[in-house]
Amino acid sequence: MTQAIKCCPHCGHDEFYKRGRISGIVIIHERFDGKLEYSDKFLNQHYVDNSSMYDLTKIKMQTARFCSNCQKKLPKQSEVQHGTNK
Ligand SMILES: [Zn+2]
Repeated sequence: MTQAIKCCPHCGHDEFYKRGRISGIVIIHERFDGKLEYSDKFLNQHYVDNSSMYDLTKIKMQTARFCSNCQKKLPKQSEVQHGTNK
């Protein structure tokens, strides 16, 4: 029988986070005038497009979970299983 964790066993908080390692190349477009938004000659507003900033990166997520409040490592799901109960 599996008993899923409903909250942090240390402080009772109901959110957790995982960590990941990011690697690769980040590309950031900038303007020579330093502005992130600008108007063209027809007064249309434009923004520097950095939506593809992370396209050349890879994220490898780790499986460990940590409480978002007290930062303590949470037990793995397999560590909270109690008996086989078949
Ligand atoms: Zn906690």
